[in-house]
Amino acid sequence: MADVEELKNLVSQSCRIIGKEDMTREPAGHVSARIPGTDHIVIKGRGPGEAALRYTMPDDTMIVDMDGKKVDGRPDLNPPNEVHIHTWMYRTRPDVNCVIHVHPTNVVLFTICNRELLPLVGAYDPFSLQLVLDGIPRYPRSILISNDELGKDLAETVGSKNVCLMRGHGITAVGATVQEATITAWRLNDLAEINYRAALLGNPEPISEEDMEVFRNQRRRASGRLASEGASAVYQNSTWNYLTRWIEE
Ligand SMILES: [Zn+2]
Repeated sequence: MADVEELKNLVSQSCRIIGKEDMTREPAGHVSARIPGTDHIVIKGRGPGEAALRYTMPDDTMIVDMDGKKVDGRPDLNPPNEVHIHTWMYRTRPDVNCVIHVHPTNVVLFTICNRELLPLVGAYDPFSLQLVLDGIPRYPRSILISNDELGKDLAETVGSKNVCLMRGHGITAVGATVQEATITAWRLNDLAEINYRAALLGNPEPISEEDMEVFRNQRRRASGRLASEGASAVYQNSTWNYLTRWIEE
């Protein structure tokens, strides 16, 4: 079970990956992790002493409760205004142990123009294809999620999915681990980049229905053998190793 110091380290690594990848307009955005067996979460702090995501270290995180109130942290750090995104995802999704909320320009463009993220790639990146095939919910409002009512509203829109696009605002990504949520957000950003660049180049064509069906069948067979979880874990490990090494360069 991850202890608090380990979680602070993971959360700060996730922030640095997102920051270095330019997946948000600095310093907007935050990553959090549930502290197992408690009603507390580790979250990147905001306020006068805040770091940009790209430079976030474990000491730039803090601990809050499920009401979003500060429990522990540096005096120059406060909970983010949108802490309610995090608390409501943890309250409504026992399977979720990490929540990421950032403002990636690539993805936000698709919400502004009401354009769908199309399944343009198959073998190039099966994980982003899976995101599209699962369906990506959209939250229609463009306001700060600054109270419980809005946090609950957003959590209802996310439902059982692992990502949500927020109109003219950003994304919320969740996962069972910090690694999983970070990689999901990273792949979503890449999917938006491919869709955007393809639209600039010409007329993007989704991969064929036949190929999507092959992919669905492969996933069904794999999940029947529990092999998908194994493959997914291997993919996540190698991707996380790459990303954490990259941020140290
Ligand atoms: Zn926001």
